[in-house]
Formats: sequence, C-alpha cells, structure tokens
Amino acid sequence: MKAVIANGPKDYKLIYDKPIPTIQDGEVLVRVLTSGICGSDLKMYEGSEFYWGIGGRARRGVIPGHEFVGLVVDIDPSIARDQSISVGDVIVAEQLVACRDQCWFCKNGMEHKCDSLVIYGQGIDGCMAEYMIYKKGSWLHKVPEGISPTYAVLAEPVAVSVRAMDRAHLKPTDMVVISGCGTIGLGLIAAIDTFYPDVSMIVLDYFQFKLDLAKSVAKKCTTFNLLDKTVSTIAEIVRKMSGEQNGADVFFECSGSPDSIKAGFEFVRKCGTFVHIGICKEIHVDAPWNAISAGKELTVVGCNLGRNAWPRAFEILQKCDLSRMITHRLPLEEYSNALGLISSGIKVVLDPTLPAPKLFNDSQSSLSMVNHNEKQFKIKDSVAFITCSSHGIGRAIAIALAREGANVIIHGKNHDSPSYSNQGTTMTILAQEISTITNNTQITAVWGDLSTKESVQSVFNHIKYPIDILICCAGENIGSNGINTASESKICNDTCLTTSDSDTKLILNQIFLTTHLVCQFVIPQMIRNHRGHVVIIGSTSAFMGKEKGALYTVSKAAVHQYMRCLATEVKSSGIRVNCIAPGPISTEQSKQNTETKQDVTGRPEHVANAVIQLLNMDFVHGQIIRVDGGEQTFCC
Ligand SMILES: [Zn+2]
Ligand SMILES: [Zn+2]
Repeated sequence: MKAVIANGPKDYKLIYDKPIPTIQDGEVLVRVLTSGICGSDLKMYEGSEFYWGIGGRARRGVIPGHEFVGLVVDIDPSIARDQSISVGDVIVAEQLVACRDQCWFCKNGMEHKCDSLVIYGQGIDGCMAEYMIYKKGSWLHKVPEGISPTYAVLAEPVAVSVRAMDRAHLKPTDMVVISGCGTIGLGLIAAIDTFYPDVSMIVLDYFQFKLDLAKSVAKKCTTFNLLDKTVSTIAEIVRKMSGEQNGADVFFECSGSPDSIKAGFEFVRKCGTFVHIGICKEIHVDAPWNAISAGKELTVVGCNLGRNAWPRAFEILQKCDLSRMITHRLPLEEYSNALGLISSGIKVVLDPTLPAPKLFNDSQSSLSMVNHNEKQFKIKDSVAFITCSSHGIGRAIAIALAREGANVIIHGKNHDSPSYSNQGTTMTILAQEISTITNNTQITAVWGDLSTKESVQSVFNHIKYPIDILICCAGENIGSNGINTASESKICNDTCLTTSDSDTKLILNQIFLTTHLVCQFVIPQMIRNHRGHVVIIGSTSAFMGKEKGALYTVSKAAVHQYMRCLATEVKSSGIRVNCIAPGPISTEQSKQNTETKQDVTGRPEHVANAVIQLLNMDFVHGQIIRVDGGEQTFCC
C-alpha cells in the first residue's frame, strides 16, 4: 500500500510497497477515507522538540497523521460484538491509545495522560496511508448517518474544542475572547454557540477569511482583524464592552503563538480564566507571570486532546455547517504540499482514494482550492480587474472574460483613454459597449494613474468587491506623452544609447512599477480571501536583444522576472501567478498602418484566448507562456 513514512524532522517520504497491516487481538483494520492535517503535524514535520527531542512523542519510521475516518475492512469479532461495529461501517478512533486500567491516571479517569499513552501518527502508525489499524485500547465511534467521510474528519479537532469549552467551566452569560480562528478556534465558536447560546464571543485573527468564517459559524460573534487594530486597542474595546467587570471572563488561546499568549493576560478580567489549547510554537514563552497571582488571580488551565467530547463533536457537526472549514483536499502523493498549506488554509485533508496528480488538467492539484460546489477555479462570477484595458490586448481580454461570465472591471489611465487609440471615446461608454456585445454582463469602468501608491489606492476606492482575477497589461497606453502613435504607443528612438531619462522613467513606471504596485495592493487581499489568479502580460521581445524598443523590452523582462519572484513568494497560499508573452500583435490601429506581416502577426483575441485557457488550467504556476504563433521556439 501507499504510505508516508516519517524518518525524522523534514525527512518524510512516500513509499508504495508498505505491506497492508493485519489485525491482532482487539484491533480493527480500516481503509483510510480521509486524513486530516493540523498544525501539530506541521510542528512534527518541522522537527519540534516536543516530538523529536529526548522522550518526545514521535517514533522514527512511523506513518504520520492522527485525524482520520476509515471504512472497516477487518475487525476482531469481540470488538465487533461489544461495540456493534461491522465490516463496511465508517468509523473513527480517538487519536490516543491508553492502557485503560493499569496506570494511576487511567484508574482515575485521566486516560489522556496515561503513563503508556501513545498517539496515532506519532508513537504508532497513523493515517497518511491507504490502510491503518485502530489499536486495542482505542475509543471507537461510528460516524452518524448523513455525515460524509470528509466532513467527519472534523470530529477530532471539534472534540478538542469541546473539551476546551468544558475546561473553562463557562457560565451562561459569560463574555469570552477566542484568539486564533483555525480549526480549533472555529470548532470552539461552534461548540459555545451550540451549548452556551448566551455567551458573547470576541474573536481575533490575522486572516479576514477566517474571521468571515467565524461569523458564518456564529453570527453573534464580534471579530477583530489583528492587521487592522493593535492588541491594546482591542483590549480597550473589550474592557469597555464588558462594563464594570473590566475584561473578558475567559480567554481561549487557540493560535499557538507566544504573542497571543501574552495578549491573553490583557484581555482577561481579574479572577478570570485563561485556557491554553494545544501546543505552542516555542517551548519557553515570556508571560507576565504575576498576573496569575498578585495581579489578577487567574485560573490558568490547559487542554489536551478531546476525551469525553466526541459524541458532542458529532452533534455540533450535524447542527452547524462547518464544511467550509475544509479548505483543501489533496491526494496522498501531495502530503508535502498539504503540510505547506496549513498556514494559509484551515483544514487541509488528504484523501488516499483520490488519483495521483497528473501534469496539467488535474483538478485536484496542490494549488487548487476546494470550492465546495466546483473543483476548479471558475471564471464565471469571478471579479476580474484588467489594467490598461481601454484598447488593444487589455480590451480583448476584458471582452473574453465577460463572455466567460466574469464581472469585469476595465481600467484606463484617463476617462478618455479609449480615444487615444481611436478605439472609442470614454471608459464609461466603453463599459456600456462591452456589456452590450457580451449579453449585458456587468462591466465597471475605473480610471486613474497606477504609478504611485496613493493613486492606486484612489483607483481601488471605486472597487467594492474582492478581486479574484488580476490581469496586468500595463499602466497605460504609454503614449500620451512623447509618443509616436504610428509605432503602437511606444516611445520614439527607444534605444539604449538614446532614450531620454524622462522617457526611461515613464516606460519603467508604466510597465513595471504599475504591475508591482497593483500586485502589492491586490494580492494580500487575495491571500486573505484564499482565492486568486494573476496573469501578467509580458512580451516575447524580452527574450532577445533589440536595437529599437530597448527600454520597452527591458521593462517587459523586468515584469517576467517579477512574476517569477512573486510566484515563489505566494506559492503556498494557493494564489496562482503566470505570464503570457505575446509576440507581435496587430490591433485595429496598426492594421491601418501596415497591411504586411499578417501571417506572423497575432491578434489581441489570440492573447485573450490564451488568458482564458490559462485561467482554466490547474497546476500551472510561475510560468511564461508565449503566444506568438511559433515565432520563437528557443527556451526563455
Ligand atoms: Zn490535529
Ligand atoms: Zn494508563
């Protein structure tokens, strides 16, 4: 069978010939249907001492993974009889195996701290494989009807959240602060909303999409994005909201970040409760220790695993719709990409039943998001912004995207930009024209300079929706200043030795700087929304030395290299970035000027079509794709 083997920190590999295990006394063999990945898997992969240090939980050679749902393939008859489980049932096991009745802790109801405790995927083989054994001493639960095997994988983290809620001993009208909206934080919000409907919740995170998800789980929670407000500002607001008690009753630390631990002491009221869940990134953390006693006399409690909480976890999964928490679903082969996606997704799952990825056209690639209705990035209903789309290639891309059902935002440097190239009058009229020829699609026109941060901001002030597709053509038809219109808006006498410094700045600003500033503006928002595709329009002229059009070529080469760096930077976020490099393209205007070279000259629609194809392709990232009819066949 296929299985991932953890040989040590950052030393994992996928093997194909691991024998399928067979059952011993008290055991169950399952085919793994879903394997969840969480922050602790990443910490173990990265080599945290908690796992690999002396006395650490991990064993070299183990199959990692502790969140799983399996289909029973073989079962010890006594377990089948005692727990009414049969072959073909979909069951989960809690993530721990304890002696159950030998050690002091088990005898006293603290099995999760058993002296011989082992955790799946750490001390014993876990779920990153096609099959696994549920060991003797496991707590087994049947997945209730109506819960899919993928969704059921959330039972493990949600059980941890339920236990955290139990540990806080909440009162019905308490006010709580929850720091961190990963799986545990969101599960906690759902648990409190289910079992303590009158508790008020304040929720903190850096990712807007996680905060939006928190709101969708429990409408009444108040959310704060830590990118917008400092901890002390939020703490001040919390104190005001809480009235006389001057602070939250309970602080739940669900992020594992040392900064969040420190912040917790600011949020919690005197004689309040501080709950820490899971494993902190650092072994030692600076904290205002005196706050616990002399300062605030706090109750500080820890929470580990989810004993006695699984049936309620399933109840929550049935009552609340937490399915949007599963942000990525990948085949087993992509375990390493899956680990890389933890920080930008919420719940990343491996599905060993998915086929291995193929090159191109694979809708389950590591860079595709789980869209809960459709597997692929879809252009339809996306919001697309195209810089410099008043004419030529940009305009053709706008029309093509509108035809595919996108909500298109067109841009020109000035309101009358379309008139410069004799392709219309104003941006507003152009928007109406495009709408008319594309079946009355929604087209919005914006205009303004994109070569300074401030002017980019003022253009984006007119855009109300998050952008899913960004197409960077340029900042403007370069031509309104010092232009030879006959040469397609490029600067006259553009050579290395003659181009004036003002034209050099103009051309670098309009081609490179605008791309850079617009990406800086749009991509952080795409990362927060967990969705986005960027296509930068380069040029095949950037692949060769050119006597004329030198600085234009240099700027396009800069854009190509910029795309490569950007693609590397955003790789793990699931945002895709590529370049299309057109060869010579004839537009309406150049057709009037030259009737020659039609056979080697492309049309804007060729480029627009390539953009559409590229947006529909999965697993293509950081690439430059030539659209030049084969004029260049050498490597980039
Ligand atoms: Zn976990
Ligand atoms: Zn024990």
